Amino acid sequence: MSASSLVADSVWKTIQSTRAVTEDQLSILHLLFGKNFERATRIVDQRGVKRISGEPSGRCIFQVVGESRRKEEYFCFPEHYCACYSFFYDIVNRGEQLCCKHQLAARLAAALGACVDVEVSDEQLALLLVKL
Ligand SMILES: [Zn+2]
Repeated sequence: MSASSLVADSVWKTIQSTRAVTEDQLSILHLLFGKNFERATRIVDQRGVKRISGEPSGRCIFQVVGESRRKEEYFCFPEHYCACYSFFYDIVNRGEQLCCKHQLAARLAAALGACVDVEVSDEQLALLLVKL
């Protein structure tokens, strides 16, 4: 794990335990993620992050709305996967960023408790996952 992802990790954990973001944390996240972080906060502000949890396992996946006018939604795991174009090109192929704005939005919403929670059965969740 790189130094910046360790820093990001500890910031997310603190936000999660306090359910609030301080000015300093905002500056750190901004330094680490730049424009993507601004975009992520806009997505969270418009309640664009859905957390779909399977019952009874409690396993979950995030569905995050994009910013284009078509309002596409992307399935995403905050730590390691997003179904969007930018994740594939900028992160997997070129290794330029730590994560895409949808992953950031999912992490931020989860840390702040700002997700729209949806519960499905584990079977329904499995069906979503095999389509990824
Ligand atoms: Zn994405």
